[in-house]
Amino acid sequence: MNVQDLIAVDVHVHVEEGADGRVSLPADLMAGSAAYFRAEKRTATVPEIADHYRERRMAAVVFTVDAQSATGHPPIPSEEIAAACAEHADVLIPFGSVDPWRGRAAVRQARALIEQYGVRGFKFHPSVQAFHPNDPTFYPLYEVLAEHGRIALFHSGQTGIGAGLPGGGGIRLKYANPMAVDDVAADFPDLPIILAHPSFPWQDEALAVATHKPLVHIDLSGWSPKYFPPQLVRYANTLLKDKVLFGSDFPVITPDRWLADFEKLDIKPEVRPMILKDNAVRLLGLDHA
Ligand SMILES: [Zn+2]
Repeated sequence: MNVQDLIAVDVHVHVEEGADGRVSLPADLMAGSAAYFRAEKRTATVPEIADHYRERRMAAVVFTVDAQSATGHPPIPSEEIAAACAEHADVLIPFGSVDPWRGRAAVRQARALIEQYGVRGFKFHPSVQAFHPNDPTFYPLYEVLAEHGRIALFHSGQTGIGAGLPGGGGIRLKYANPMAVDDVAADFPDLPIILAHPSFPWQDEALAVATHKPLVHIDLSGWSPKYFPPQLVRYANTLLKDKVLFGSDFPVITPDRWLADFEKLDIKPEVRPMILKDNAVRLLGLDHA
């Protein structure tokens, strides 16, 4: 990866379709979230994502979510995603996803994804995967990540997955309170963490955790910057300017739309490149990759 040529690093991109046409979510959840986000094209393969970002001189962190225990839906294998990313190493950075409920098998899979497939971090979606991040049952997973210096990215706050479906598709928002991640950050002080999204309705909690715990970062994905709460913008400009990261949540929000709206947001000129690129380069270690 030629970091100098990049104009931005998007730390939050979903692979929604595997090589065999398998998609990342059960049909009802996929259709519901496409409507919620009014996405034009709801699924994206690794090569499509690589082209999209390469055209824009951006890099992207890509992942899927393995929530098979919670949803019954088989995941796009993270091994397949990581292997496909290796063919697009100029623009793509793979994260893995394991189903936390698989216990020791999940820990083994995480270790293999790190050691054999070179994933740089893991995506967790507590609401879709139906687990409390601070339940010690899942701590062996974080131990593997911390041991290898990998990043744990947690979805936080509201989710478009299940929105509008009867009972929200059975998905519970309670799991996505960032205060649970505060426990993880306290118990794993060496584990780099990203709290994904403006954490509505727990924005203040997320800002408190990121301010208090040195390795907790915030990505700005999943929402148009138009709708960022004022306190998030204030912290991004000041206390958290080294720890806030550009993320789109592609394909539900395109980087073009996100960046166009970010342009109009009241962010200091000197902080813009930090959010768009520099903070991610440092966190992901891209400068010495
Ligand atoms: Zn996400």
